[in-house]
Parts: sequence; structure tokens; C-alpha cells
Amino acid sequence: MKVNYKRYGLYLLRWQASTPILAGVGILLATMGQIVAAVVANLIGGLIFFWVDQFIFTSQSLAAQWEVRDNITCVDCGRTARGYRLVRSGEYDRTQDHAPEFRCEECSLKKSHELKGRGIKID
Ligand SMILES: [Zn+2]
Repeated sequence: MKVNYKRYGLYLLRWQASTPILAGVGILLATMGQIVAAVVANLIGGLIFFWVDQFIFTSQSLAAQWEVRDNITCVDCGRTARGYRLVRSGEYDRTQDHAPEFRCEECSLKKSHELKGRGIKID
């Protein structure tokens, strides 16, 4: 399994953010039964972290974005094939590219390797 370290880091921070809720359980424990306190704390946590987790695991801003098109002419080798281009990954942003360059799978892999060599992170 490939780990997206941005997502993993956010997920670890998310667990730290649940610490105040656990602290709240201590306060609730003082005034009500343990089971009720745990149910209330988990309900509050679920209401908050459902949305946080959904962002962490589905946000496209945390992953490299690729565009795939059929029947392109590869900008490197001229072959007609299914084409790929990296649209955005971290600081690399070609979302406003008016003349996007597509590459066949083989050339795309070479280009990805080159971009990684320049320090661009590609998932
Ligand atoms: Zn090619």
C-alpha cells in the first residue's frame, strides 16, 4: 500500500485534536455515569470527526491530480495513445495551462521520474 504522507500527517493531527474531547469525558465523568459519558463523548467526536476524516481521505488537494485523455498525440514520441498529464501536485500547478502536454504511458513514466528528480512529489 502506498502511503500519502500528507494525509497520514493530517490524520495523526486529527487524533491529537480529539484530545480535548477525551478531556471533556473527564469532566462528564464527574457529573454522570461512565457509560453515558463515553456515549456523549463519542457522539460529539463523531459529529466533528466525520467531516474531518472525510476531508482527510477524500480531499483532492492532498493528492496529485492527473488528467487522462484517450487518443492524444504524445508530446515526446508522437505516438497516438491514451495520454496522461500531471495537473497539480503541491507547488507544481498546471491547472491554467492553455496548451497542456499529454504523454503516452511510457513517456509519462519517464516524465514523472524526471519531475520527482526535480523534487516534485507525485503520489
Ligand atoms: Zn510517448
